[in-house]
Amino acid sequence: MPETIAVPDLPVTERVALDPQTTALVVIDMQNDFVSPGGSLLVPDAAATVPLIAGLIDQARAAGARVVFSQDTHRDGDPEFAIWPVHVLEGGWGWEIVEELRPRPEDTVLRKPRYDAFYGTPLDHLLRQWGVRTLVICGTVANICVHYTAASAALRWYDVVIPRDAVSALDPFDLAASLRQTTGLFAGRVTTAGGVVFGA
Ligand code: ZN
Repeated sequence: MPETIAVPDLPVTERVALDPQTTALVVIDMQNDFVSPGGSLLVPDAAATVPLIAGLIDQARAAGARVVFSQDTHRDGDPEFAIWPVHVLEGGWGWEIVEELRPRPEDTVLRKPRYDAFYGTPLDHLLRQWGVRTLVICGTVANICVHYTAASAALRWYDVVIPRDAVSALDPFDLAASLRQTTGLFAGRVTTAGGVVFGA
């Protein structure tokens, strides 16, 4: 019989006002294999986050904040396929970012080989060039690629903001545990998509 444990209260910040000059919106792995029906590693709750993420993207663009997309990218024989089903094979439909969130030329798209969007990508280099200190991180999977990117950002002393309704996970326990680490270990802020304000 599964052990029942209580989920501790999570501090949720109602409104987070951010300077668009020093903040980037990071959209993690909103690709067909994770989000769209028929995807090989579907996260059922991810589809509901698409309109909220689209709203965040619109707001960031309107305010002149940087928008960064990570694109999980694997090739045949990737060792990650011993852990997960085959997913996001480079160049295929499952690898593409969902139509509704299609990046624009002025956005930055980073192909990443592992959970952490800093690993094997120029993300830290770009953020430093841009003078960005705060990352609003959304997308999927909350306790995997969102989480390891948030952790990696926090270890580099970036401020981390996670809108809880704009991330999705396969398991509610994993989601809760991840958000708790964000507010605790990472000293980050958990809010909602509606609570994120680019501007004063
Ligand atoms: Zn992967």
